[in-house]
Amino acid sequence: CGVFGIWGHEKAAELTYYGLHSMQHRGQEGAGIVVSDGKELKAHKGLGLVNDVFKHAKFDDLAGQSAVGHVRYTTQGGRGIENVQPLLFQSQSGGLALAHNGNLMNAHKLRGELEEQGSILQTSSDTEVLAHLIKRSGNKTNEETIANALNQVVGAYAYLIMKEDKMYAALDPAGIRPLSIGRLGDAYVVASETCAFDQIGATFEREVLPGELVTISDEGIKSTRFAPRNGRKMCAMEYVYLSRPDSNVNHVNVHSSRKRMGIELAKESPVEADIVVGVPDSSISAAIGYAEESGLPYEMGIIKNRYVGRTFIQPSQELRELGVKLKLSPVRGIVEGKRIVMIDDSIVRGTTSRRIVQMLKDAGALEVHVRIASPAIKNPCYYGIDMSTRKELIGANNTPEEIGEIIGADSVAYLSETGLEEAIVKDKTINQGVCMACMTGNYPVTKDGETEIQYTK
Ligand code: 5GP
Ligand code: SF4
Ligand code: MG
Repeated sequence: CGVFGIWGHEKAAELTYYGLHSMQHRGQEGAGIVVSDGKELKAHKGLGLVNDVFKHAKFDDLAGQSAVGHVRYTTQGGRGIENVQPLLFQSQSGGLALAHNGNLMNAHKLRGELEEQGSILQTSSDTEVLAHLIKRSGNKTNEETIANALNQVVGAYAYLIMKEDKMYAALDPAGIRPLSIGRLGDAYVVASETCAFDQIGATFEREVLPGELVTISDEGIKSTRFAPRNGRKMCAMEYVYLSRPDSNVNHVNVHSSRKRMGIELAKESPVEADIVVGVPDSSISAAIGYAEESGLPYEMGIIKNRYVGRTFIQPSQELRELGVKLKLSPVRGIVEGKRIVMIDDSIVRGTTSRRIVQMLKDAGALEVHVRIASPAIKNPCYYGIDMSTRKELIGANNTPEEIGEIIGADSVAYLSETGLEEAIVKDKTINQGVCMACMTGNYPVTKDGETEIQYTK
């Protein structure tokens, strides 16, 4: 998912719309904006793409100086409209809006406890659980009640919380999900990805830190801490696949990190071939890196139809397969008679690679060598990326050779774990640790809330 917030700008809702639009790749199932005019919170939400949801929205009705927005992709909870965020709660002491990117590992348990104590929840979303915990921590929503609530949840999260007169941004104690702060004139902006700042002409100011709760109001910005300062464990898949190449995630440009992944991959797993082809869009940066390092020409051997959504996000396997076929086509004139190195950023279920290898061979490729710009994904993610069951993960149950056979490739090789880490971490002094649990099995946060990582000062 993607979250966006802005404080202190007369065009808050419009700017949120543009910010969300630039983060559309983070979720396409639903979108919403809640705006505050200082007295009251109002919401506009819907299912589908940002453009569709706001096509008939009257921004005059969304007048106000601050807003939070969300784009949704479902990992937990149903796909219905009731789960589209930001969630908005009204009470006698005022409104409360919440937008969340991540996943709570103890949401089920907390939900059970809340129900036992008499709460009725309206959605199946984790986010509602936090709203209840905040309310139960005290009648006023403030740093203390929010910190209290955050200390009861376990998992990976980037939250934006808004009342009439304040906005809060909070990041989980391991800093697994991205969240940055920017400035646009006097206004403050908070977003999952820095591409949203560029979109609206804002400048990057700083990262929200692990375990930090940032309060933004007309008085300015204030920082408190609800958990001790941890070493950061930013999700490696943000770099591998999820984020936009023009974003900087925890100070590292995504395109550049992908290019380094490709360079490293070429060093580790060279192959005799004629051309290098990347699977658009997310693998192009890595393919450029592989080509540069190997000295082979980078070619546009596969093109993408821009009018089809992200295949991974389709709910069923059948739709996913059809999605790949609609989305990607080989360039016959380029691939015919060639030995190809095909770069993909990752293999999850194997759907994409199988279709593409077949496609390239049907178009006359002599050999297709698959090179994956990340290590094998062997473990489920509990932190908000949709890779939940081990059974589905082709890399959990098969060696590269076996995968080669399944997908019909002449060879398959992955980037090593150290190769990936080195491609991402540029500067150890600014805490650029990464989570690679889906590859290594080292989970930075466990179900009972233990943090298995080193505390730093
Ligand atoms: P597969 O087709 O093997 O199931 O998935 C791999 C493809 O899906 C890759 O081309 C990659 O770009 C994309 N992908 C990999 N990981 C993720 C993820 O965590 N979320 C989403 N939405 N897509 C992913
Ligand atoms: Fe990202 Fe994998 Fe860690 Fe999940 S387990 S947060 S996908 S690196
Ligand atoms: Mg892809």
